[in-house]
Amino acid sequence: MSAKTSLICLVKYRCYFWRLYRTYMKNETLINIAKDYKTPVYVYNGNKIKNQFQRLKNAFNKVDNLRIKYACKALSNISILSLIRSFGSGLDTVSIQEVHLGIKAGFNPEDIIFTPNGVSLEEIESVASMGVQINIDNLSTLEQFGSKHPNTPVCIRINPHVMAGGNSNISVGHIDSKFGISIHQIPHILRIVENTQMQINGVHMHTGSDILDIEVFLHAAEILFDTALRFKNLEFIDFGSGFKVPYKPGDIETNIEELGEKLSQRFKLFCKTYGKELKLTFEPGKFLVSEAGYFLTKVNAVKQTTSTVFAQVDSGFNHLIRPMMYGSHHEIVNISNTKGKERFYTVVGYICETDTFGSNRKIAEISEGDILAFRNAGAYCFTMASNYNSRFRPPEVLWYKEEAHLIRKEETFEDLTQNQILIEFNETVVVN
Ligand SMILES: *Cc1c(COP(=O)(O)O)cnc(C)c1O
Repeated sequence: MSAKTSLICLVKYRCYFWRLYRTYMKNETLINIAKDYKTPVYVYNGNKIKNQFQRLKNAFNKVDNLRIKYACKALSNISILSLIRSFGSGLDTVSIQEVHLGIKAGFNPEDIIFTPNGVSLEEIESVASMGVQINIDNLSTLEQFGSKHPNTPVCIRINPHVMAGGNSNISVGHIDSKFGISIHQIPHILRIVENTQMQINGVHMHTGSDILDIEVFLHAAEILFDTALRFKNLEFIDFGSGFKVPYKPGDIETNIEELGEKLSQRFKLFCKTYGKELKLTFEPGKFLVSEAGYFLTKVNAVKQTTSTVFAQVDSGFNHLIRPMMYGSHHEIVNISNTKGKERFYTVVGYICETDTFGSNRKIAEISEGDILAFRNAGAYCFTMASNYNSRFRPPEVLWYKEEAHLIRKEETFEDLTQNQILIEFNETVVVN
């Protein structure tokens, strides 16, 4: 290694550790937030969100027209939206309500894309009338929308039939997905476009699964490039998301830097072939916010049974449903006793049915009253919370530049009942 390359390596490493240091949330800070705002509480580290945004931007720094559109279904608190907007992001939305939230948070309609699946034509028309980019993913909607609004530019969501998640078996994999219009139906799309004279200004894909293998992503990209050549007036190509983030030590994550290097090069080449500088769009959700989130709970009881030791916390799947819904792994850390001897616990919630956050986890010795932090609680956690068991949804706190901001209050009994209508009955039931 030459002196110059070792110097570059050293600088890169120092930057890496400096970034890690800057974006790391201290246990002490989390404990203080738990004290100040009570548990359960969601905490988001805005510094980490910013860092992830920066990483994605850096990875594609060779592309002139990069557009990042945060997929807000992952975490849709309006202050989070406002923060991510301030970084220069656009927004990816899947419902008209998300579009309204985005506009409330300060996004321009032109920076929002609407990528619904299976919604009514009326909803699509309402969103289009607000000046938001529409993305259509089925033939009949395309035909109806195109006939009625030929002058509204539309993006088309393609299903490239690629199995993400390490399986590079392309052609027919994923054929049963309900998302996107099959690449095998492109002749049909072209017929609709010609008949309605509608304008197609973008092509889009989003495989939806965790992408482990960059080659699979690049292969899907080739399919999208082929598709793009069939449309003459494109302005952008949208590669969706599906970037994998680590959930536990040793987990593989999408190598965004490598993907950036390879895809940027290929994209520039494509633009030459196409004869126009297009915009390159991504819609990261998880990648931006997953690792930024912590869900803090307090241990109500430690219960020894014949088979395991249960740690019962003051929350349940009403607040964090991912482990029960699709077996997601969230690391659980006892931040009240980080140096304690590790023991095995099954961490459960208070919901009156099976409500397991994690089985047989090695956690530093737990006492009643300790605060347990769930990691990766930024994406698809609060947004999936409910009032099941008539519990309040927890407050949300944003930690940004060494300061805590309350961004959602805990609910109250009034919130629970405000839309319910009480009818007073006066019946009696007698034996007859
Ligand atoms: C959910 C979604 C995303 C974000 O996916 P992540 O895996 O959270 O990054 C992006 N685009 C569309 C259309 C989506 O529905």
